[in-house]
Amino acid sequence: MASSLVFRLHDRAPELLRDVLLERGWEEYDGEREEEDWNLYWRGSAFRSSEYHNLLPWQRLNHHPKTVGITRKDCLARNLRRMRASCGSSLYDFSPSSFILPNDYTRFLAEYDKLHLTGGPSLYWICKPVDLSRGRGIFVFQDIKDLVYDCSVIVQRYVSDPLLISGYKFDLRIYVCVKSFHPLTVYIHQEGLVRFATEKYSLSSLRNLFAHLTNSSINKLGPFYRAEKERVGRGCKWTMSKFRHFLHSQDVDELPLWQRINNIVTLTLLTIAPSVPSCPNCVELFGFDILVDARLKPWLLEVNYSPALTLDCPADVSVKRGLISDLIDLMNYTSTDGLRDGANQKPKCKQPCFHGDRPSYVPTSSQTQTLPLLKTVPQSKGMNPRRRALVADQSRRLPPVNSNKACAAGVRIINSTARKTHSDETLNLILGSRSRTNASVVNRHTRPGETDVSPKTPEIRHPRGLGFKPSAVAWKLPNIYSGSRVPVTAPLEETTAPTGQDVPPVRVGDFIRTFPFNAATLKASRHKLNVKVVVQELHKLTGRLTSGQSDEAEGTKKGEEDFDSLLWGPKDPPSLRQCFKPT
Ligand code: ADP
Repeated sequence: MASSLVFRLHDRAPELLRDVLLERGWEEYDGEREEEDWNLYWRGSAFRSSEYHNLLPWQRLNHHPKTVGITRKDCLARNLRRMRASCGSSLYDFSPSSFILPNDYTRFLAEYDKLHLTGGPSLYWICKPVDLSRGRGIFVFQDIKDLVYDCSVIVQRYVSDPLLISGYKFDLRIYVCVKSFHPLTVYIHQEGLVRFATEKYSLSSLRNLFAHLTNSSINKLGPFYRAEKERVGRGCKWTMSKFRHFLHSQDVDELPLWQRINNIVTLTLLTIAPSVPSCPNCVELFGFDILVDARLKPWLLEVNYSPALTLDCPADVSVKRGLISDLIDLMNYTSTDGLRDGANQKPKCKQPCFHGDRPSYVPTSSQTQTLPLLKTVPQSKGMNPRRRALVADQSRRLPPVNSNKACAAGVRIINSTARKTHSDETLNLILGSRSRTNASVVNRHTRPGETDVSPKTPEIRHPRGLGFKPSAVAWKLPNIYSGSRVPVTAPLEETTAPTGQDVPPVRVGDFIRTFPFNAATLKASRHKLNVKVVVQELHKLTGRLTSGQSDEAEGTKKGEEDFDSLLWGPKDPPSLRQCFKPT
């Protein structure tokens, strides 16, 4: 019989995660247990490479190896620069130009001189230490003589015309889950946070961090944090739902904004995806920080390695609990994961948990069944004999925890749950009686504590943003704000594309699959990621969404018909197909 699932928390792992897992019937790892007797290891910092190498089939980690290429400010800047050079600056135009100092000092000086000598609009810069977070050590400057630093920093063009709400600057925290890098499988959560500065924005006071930085850790300490601020309210955070309602109340056409953010996420992940080693037992939650300017153009500020999951205010409670719950559902634990001693395993198939330092193709489960045993335990060197025997034994017995088939099995459980055709008892045993999978993995429409913005609220105050509407004319979508709460139906099951490949579910809770988003990107990511094809498909998708037309030249291909995706962004997202064929 399956025992409870077991989690390990370490190094700034969030308390909230502990609460959610315990509620779902998980148990916490303690010294009494066998060394390998756990299912999920969550930590705020990076795992050692030996920890990836020694993973057992039922164990998962909350970080993929080698994602520092996007999570450290200097690495991100370098990678985006490289992609800009190879894919074109029009595509990779979502990050303010950046210089890594001291190395790029001469380049920065040349750029600074060029821009300042042309006498254009006033230019501002922001200086950020490369390996600090939470706003520490950051300052904004205009004159190069104010640039003083004593560690490696990144100097970036300051987006000086941010979209303001009642004069307050804000940025968006978007939660992105990379379920797998090989094949690339990405979900974006529909809920997120809007983080406000707590003093009114003004370029005449560059030193006022409470006006220029939107980090909660900074603004919590500000004198106006608790004050009731015009429209923003108390504190410094909104939920994304509240922000969406706000945009709607201002008659802002928000959908192009969400699609652009979606593209930013995909294009950013493409910078590292080919070089991340394959580790099917890892799942990672990233926090993408996006600043929206007065023309509604989103800018990527940074990607957070361990986005804060602490609860500081009602918006946090409203967003993060559901986020974690959905993340656990997305991890798709199945009954076999509870069988950690291997005694009750039926022989099924084998799969290595980690594919070394090279990115590699993850075989389908039917292929893994035919792999010779030696290949299934390539990293057993240096293990103690008992552990090596256990790995070998488990490799013979266990299905891969994250293989397509395992995933399909889990999804079947989830979906049959939705249809109430499975045994609730069995599922409760595995996931805990309060698991959201058990009752509501499909969708959640309201969150406790959500407050609607009055439709009478005045317009956004910013120089050019009033009544601004991007050029998109044909985002024909159901009116989600009309009072109708009926979601647009979308396929919930994992399906099989005509190519014979399994397609990950389109949504899990409030996580919407944003990659792959069609048959071509599924194919392009299956073996060695074909970045060029992905980029072309992103271009096409954006064009088609903007026009609302299906690609007439090509017609609808067979693969497109069978592949469904949801449009990330709207509260009740329609399928992409519905957007292409407006009625
Ligand atoms: P940290 O990791 O310290 O949070 P960020 O890069 O996220 O560093 O910057 C902190 C804050 O500074 C952001 O939340 C944003 O409000 C502001 N900021 C950062 N970069 C820029 C920029 N290029 N233009 C405008 N504001 C910025």
